[in-house]
Amino acid sequence: MQPNNNYSDADATSKGVTVLGATGSVGISTLDVLSRHPEKYHVVALTANKQVEKLFEQCCLFHPAYAVMVDEDAAKQLEEKLRTVGSDTVVLAGACALETVASFEHSDYVMAAIVGAAGLLPSLAAANAGKRVMLANKEALVMSGKLFMDAVKNNGAELLPIDSEHNAIYQSLPLQGTTGVKRILLTGSGGPFRQREIETLSLVTPQEAVAHPNWSMGQKISVDSATMMNKGLEVIEACWLFDVASTDIQVVIHPQSTIHSMVSYIDGSVIAQLGNPDMRTPIAYSLAWPERIDAGVDELDFFDVARLDFEPPDFDRFPCLKFAYDAHEIGGYASIALNAANEVAVDSFLNKHIKFTEIPQLIENALELAPSGTPLVLEDILIQDRESRRTASLWIKNNKKQTTVL
Ligand code: NDP
Ligand code: MG
Repeated sequence: MQPNNNYSDADATSKGVTVLGATGSVGISTLDVLSRHPEKYHVVALTANKQVEKLFEQCCLFHPAYAVMVDEDAAKQLEEKLRTVGSDTVVLAGACALETVASFEHSDYVMAAIVGAAGLLPSLAAANAGKRVMLANKEALVMSGKLFMDAVKNNGAELLPIDSEHNAIYQSLPLQGTTGVKRILLTGSGGPFRQREIETLSLVTPQEAVAHPNWSMGQKISVDSATMMNKGLEVIEACWLFDVASTDIQVVIHPQSTIHSMVSYIDGSVIAQLGNPDMRTPIAYSLAWPERIDAGVDELDFFDVARLDFEPPDFDRFPCLKFAYDAHEIGGYASIALNAANEVAVDSFLNKHIKFTEIPQLIENALELAPSGTPLVLEDILIQDRESRRTASLWIKNNKKQTTVL
């Protein structure tokens, strides 16, 4: 089916944007930035999993040519609602449609903001189609590493990091390469449990875990921040994005989240990017790069910030961070296993099937089972992902017999 939107009418300088994961935290922030610059960008496609009402509202505001809902029933409901208001947005259903709109010829920029492994194939499709890929979906890069970076390089795509730390590093690195760079200083707030008694971590509730002190984010990344697996995934993400070894990345705990990361140079200089913790800054940067546009973010008030604190990470408190360093050293299969087990574990924790402290146990188990080496083709990545999910689910099933979660 063809959409009625007439792209020949679009200003030749206006960029077409597809937002994968439009109804999520990053997706909503992206649409907020886009709405501030209607002369520069037009929305080509929006996607969601099953939140019908939210995607419907977004379609009414942004009039995309396509709307994708992975869930078939949700797609039918959206279709009906859009017809009643006379919208000509074409609704597509199913996971394959995500790849269709990610590689759609009228889409110049693709915001990859689906959460988890579900974002791998559409993000990769955008890279293979030579788009500007604005990558929030770190799990996709953790899983596919070299394959993803090769897809970007071989198809003339542009890869701009949305993760605030990686966007900060991108802004602080030399224009080309890493000449003169001594190390990357990857900052992290330490999450909500930086100072909580270690003995009480097993009692952490989902509600406590998703309450991040500085950032408002989706549930999965909020739990990842609480275990510091998020920082671990970010170490692996940085290795691939900037072509550095994990030993070149130092995690620095910085509770205020004012400095979003830094680059230390051999001449003693340290270049940092600072700002209020608001994802609209990296989103606006990646949309406008190499220029700058208004993001709707307040200017940083240094008198309000007043102080900046730093401390080393505590690997005993946050074993997931250590596991991520280990996984990247072991190879690609281990990184896939780490990510898959973490996704299963976080989901189970949010559904109160396992304890907070069982999340690292599951991941450690997955790493022990992962083969060494790195997959060379997509199919092997997907097979390992499935296998690690299967064994993680089995671990939970076996352990649940002995554990009762409050
Ligand atoms: P959210 O949970 O808020 O949103 C996830 C989005 O993905 C929603 O649009 C959701 O649709 C969609 N989605 C969920 N499952 C599927 C699926 N199986 N297939 C297709 N679409 C799906 O996540 P966030 O916005 O917080 O995070 C998105 C990504 O960005 C993550 O990889 C995260 O690590 C990364 N990131 C997020 C940051 C943040 O500030 N939130 C910061 C840095 C990185 P529906 O609403 O219908 O469920
Ligand atoms: Mg981040």
